[in-house]
Amino acid sequence: MKFEELKALDEQYVMQSYGRFPVAIDHGKGATVWDVEGKEYIDFPSGIGVCSLGYDNDGWVEAITRQASKLGHISNLFYSEPYVRLAQQLCTRSGMSNVFFANSGAESNEGMIKLARKYSFDKYGKGRGTVITLHKSFHGRTITTLAATGQDVFHNYFFPFTEGFRYADANDLDSVEAVAGHDVCAVMFELIQGEGGVLPLDREFVRGVAELCAKRDWLLLVDEVQTGVGRTGSLFAFQQYGIQPDVVSFAKGIAGGLPFGGVMANEKCRNVFTPGTHATTFGGNPVAAAAALQVLHTIDDEMLLQVRKKGEYLRSQIEAMELPCLGATRGMGLMIGIEVKGEKSNKDIAAKLIENGLLCLTAGPGLRLLPPLVITQEEMDRGLAIMKQTLG
Ligand SMILES: *Cc1c(COP(=O)(O)O)cnc(C)c1O
Repeated sequence: MKFEELKALDEQYVMQSYGRFPVAIDHGKGATVWDVEGKEYIDFPSGIGVCSLGYDNDGWVEAITRQASKLGHISNLFYSEPYVRLAQQLCTRSGMSNVFFANSGAESNEGMIKLARKYSFDKYGKGRGTVITLHKSFHGRTITTLAATGQDVFHNYFFPFTEGFRYADANDLDSVEAVAGHDVCAVMFELIQGEGGVLPLDREFVRGVAELCAKRDWLLLVDEVQTGVGRTGSLFAFQQYGIQPDVVSFAKGIAGGLPFGGVMANEKCRNVFTPGTHATTFGGNPVAAAAALQVLHTIDDEMLLQVRKKGEYLRSQIEAMELPCLGATRGMGLMIGIEVKGEKSNKDIAAKLIENGLLCLTAGPGLRLLPPLVITQEEMDRGLAIMKQTLG
């Protein structure tokens, strides 16, 4: 189907909730994709940090195909091997104790918030269900995770929102103390605020919040939906911050493109969810779990080292170009934010890059890159050349 025809059908039959770029992607290989007209693009966003192994990865396709022909789904009323092996991998490599599997980032965060509230309810009873989150955060699109998101633009239309959230400023421990109270059960944050603009939290702030949480028996909830699964150069970003959270959520990159996610808890929280208190029909799907096992198998220490090196390479090359519309870069590993300056907006710049064959993302007022972790030197250089040519 040609682009115009596809677009017309989308407009007629699909709810128009996305502002899409005028490109229809047909297939991909590695960190390169092709549209329905056969035009080639270098892929710097990997979905939105989802296709961690790029496109058409042999091991990933094989793992999915093998599992799909063996057992494509079984309810959570029964055991199956892929999710059990995956849970073991995740826990042994993160130092967490056990896992609940979900299907998306928002759903994983919902589980994390439920877990925090129940932990507190079991121990202290009612009236201690407030979660402190940060301004410029993003935690998802369900009614509750919208409420958890500390940005006013997300608090429209869908009233009434879930109660029990208060917002503090990132990197300001006093502002966390200022919204504290007897009703608080947890603090929740992203270590690098993704949608908010690729804004890493300071180490001292993160340590300070962790200490405050320990002192007051608040749970420390870390949303690693975007930062997790190798993205920042360690399996989870918290491993580079020198903290051990009480609960961690993950999704996006975990299954390399299939919908999947989950919540990991530490020892203190391992028994909060008891039979019947939390569930989901699709959670722990065997095909998605097999894909995730392949992703984790691929992300070994060598690959994590490469992610850090590639991130440094991209950032230094972009800064060295000294393009008139781009400023400083920030982030960790292959989660990169680029400051936008001058007349053109980040959306205009992204549109221009895409038109010229480089897919990229915006975040806050800047640009954002989340390339496949397996992106090659050649693909990086081709993407950088397009950037220089388009914006120079
Ligand atoms: C993308 C994202 C979410 C929401 O994930 P969905 O799979 O879209 O529900 C939540 N938290 C963070 C940090 C994210 O980046």
